[in-house]
Amino acid sequence: MITVNNVTKVYENGASGLDRVSISIKPRDFAFIIGSSGSGKSTLMKLLLKEIEPTSGEIIINNINLGGLAHNEVPYFRRKIGVVFQDFRLLPNKTVYENVAFAMQVVETSSRDIRRTVPAILAMVGLQRKSKAYPNQLSGGEQQRTALARAIINKPPILLADEPTGNLDPDTAWEIMDLLEDINNRGTTVVIATHAKDIVDEMQKRVIALRNGQLIRDIEKGGYEDEV
Ligand code: ADP
Ligand code: MG
Repeated sequence: MITVNNVTKVYENGASGLDRVSISIKPRDFAFIIGSSGSGKSTLMKLLLKEIEPTSGEIIINNINLGGLAHNEVPYFRRKIGVVFQDFRLLPNKTVYENVAFAMQVVETSSRDIRRTVPAILAMVGLQRKSKAYPNQLSGGEQQRTALARAIINKPPILLADEPTGNLDPDTAWEIMDLLEDINNRGTTVVIATHAKDIVDEMQKRVIALRNGQLIRDIEKGGYEDEV
């Protein structure tokens, strides 16, 4: 469960990131956060990851009040959340297999479990034949599949994706969205910030719309709608 309670974020330079936003996202939900550039989507994502702190209001994720988390508890909290970004953020000197395996190594998984789990995840995202390739040998879609595999390899209950299709052509964007839907169908809560209007309109999922940092619409099954 993700609860955002009357959260405002004012940046150090006075810019408004979010303005009194309240949202609640249930386990296994699939939600789009939409809005034009500058509307506050990434600010919300960063707040959920505790990369930045709210100016006021509170955020509670799976019964953890982020404001009460000690510094040394943050890494453990972040293990519960998989993340993908528009620019993939793969390690350039590691292969597809190594990028995904590395996420398990840092949480001290046994090599036996790593050897068993990584190929299964790569198969799930359709990359079994690319496991030895380096990121610069992959298409954008393949890089994002690798990033998705890495994000879910430790089975986080929540997956956050900030403009995951922003660098992809429309067909590839759809492949990534289909994968995100698969991941959601396997039980993960999925929250996607996007301004991919066609995809949001077609998928008819929960739509949470921001404008100038304010929540302007939150509907259970909706489209992008033009006024955003
Ligand atoms: P979106 O992801 O929807 O494009 P952002 O959350 O990145 O929007 O930005 C929301 C607002 O906050 C914008 O006005 C932006 O300029 C401002 N903003 C974002 N990050 C910072 C920052 N680090 N410092 C100052 N202002 C910021
Ligand atoms: Mg953004």
